[in-house]
Amino acid sequence: MDHRSNYPSTAEMQALDAAHNLHPFTDTGALNAKGARIITSGKGVYIHDSEGARILDGMAGLWCVNLGYGRKEMAEVAYRQSLELPFYNTFFQTSHPPALQLAAKLAEIMPHDLNRVFYAGSGSEANDTNIRLVRHYWASQGKPEKSHIIGRWNGYHGSTMGGGSLGGMKGIHAQGGLPIPGISHIDQPYWYGEGGDMSPEEFGLLRARALEAEIERLGADKVAAFIGEPVQGAGGVIIPPSTYWPEIQRICREHDVLLIADEVITAFGRTGKWFGCETFGIQPDIMTIAKGLSSGYAPIGGSMVSERMCKVLDEVGGEFAHGYTYNGHPVAAAVALENIRIMQEEKIVETAAADTMPYMAQRWAELADHPMVGEARIVGFMGAIELTPDKAARAPFAADEGTVGYMVRERCFANGLVMRHVGDKMIISPPLVLNRAEIDHFLGLAVKSLDEGMAKAKAEGVFAAGKRA
Ligand SMILES: *Cc1c(COP(=O)(O)O)cnc(C)c1O
Repeated sequence: MDHRSNYPSTAEMQALDAAHNLHPFTDTGALNAKGARIITSGKGVYIHDSEGARILDGMAGLWCVNLGYGRKEMAEVAYRQSLELPFYNTFFQTSHPPALQLAAKLAEIMPHDLNRVFYAGSGSEANDTNIRLVRHYWASQGKPEKSHIIGRWNGYHGSTMGGGSLGGMKGIHAQGGLPIPGISHIDQPYWYGEGGDMSPEEFGLLRARALEAEIERLGADKVAAFIGEPVQGAGGVIIPPSTYWPEIQRICREHDVLLIADEVITAFGRTGKWFGCETFGIQPDIMTIAKGLSSGYAPIGGSMVSERMCKVLDEVGGEFAHGYTYNGHPVAAAVALENIRIMQEEKIVETAAADTMPYMAQRWAELADHPMVGEARIVGFMGAIELTPDKAARAPFAADEGTVGYMVRERCFANGLVMRHVGDKMIISPPLVLNRAEIDHFLGLAVKSLDEGMAKAKAEGVFAAGKRA
């Protein structure tokens, strides 16, 4: 159904938005000068705006609408649960069916011994929980000084005080006194941008061993955990070389450092298996989940905690003095449970992995032939292309980083495609239900937008190559 006629005009909505809505990660002054694009509805892999444009959503919202838009069952479950029990807490020795049923379902589908969940409302909150949880874990065993956490530069773990500190985004650290104490960062496994003349495999080992060096610098008895995304998402879909994760795993084991896999993006099918850990052979002690957990239909996240850790906490942990009012919120939990039911019943991950993801990989690789593309990489439905004025040299542009990426992004939007730019990388993370015809449509729009973006960059004199860092 099209609700557009029920809304005020686009100009009126933009004025209300500008006057009262502070946007995340946005220069409010600049946005308000031009007005936000108002998205009014979605169906399948498409979103619609207030001007009637239909746009192929190559980002699944914000890496989350894995099931696609407009699934009626999801709305009906939320409706029924809201009538039955819209809220109850799980703080004071109570529980409710959606929280416990979702917990049991998660334990069933999770790899290894990730059998228990501590719920949160978002990925950021779950990572804040992780900071307190790993410190509590070691402190309860008489090791309160084993509290330091190591993350990675250009990693993303949310933007709360804790999540923003675990992440290694310099722009986030620059505001509000981050990182908080007891957190440090190692370099990322970004071969295209930082690997120089090394092979990806050599480079993957080198960057993994930076973790060992950092643990040795601090002393293993001071290091509680390492956190990383199996594939860095917000940092620009950075797919690590094959050597990276096995080496990280070895290092964490040898030094008795807990491994936190932040799967807020990679969980629930994104990389072609149900969990990124399965794609990359990682056995984490804690897994952060959010986004695809509910396909974005309700805000919910959580920390999956290994049975091994939980057994220790059951024995010596006492009360964990931590929790959110909306921990395991019944409506959100019911929606997440329905999401998983649909994904399992319709074999959405398995179908994508067998058919549409390999097809997308083949079509995506063709983009590497484009004169402005230095690399096209993809795992499952999580991909990036590196824009460059000089393919052979993997050179960046001389212009400020992101100048050309933004031009391409603008052409995408105008052509009816959402591709996000991170600097001069274009990234995608479409709904898992994207079919072959939609993939062809996607690639047609992407090439058109790249052509137009390149023409614009040339016309504006920003196509020249700069020096690699
Ligand atoms: C989005 C994201 C988060 C933060 O989740 P929010 O729900 O936005 O708080 C954390 N980690 C990763 C890997 C993410 O992509």
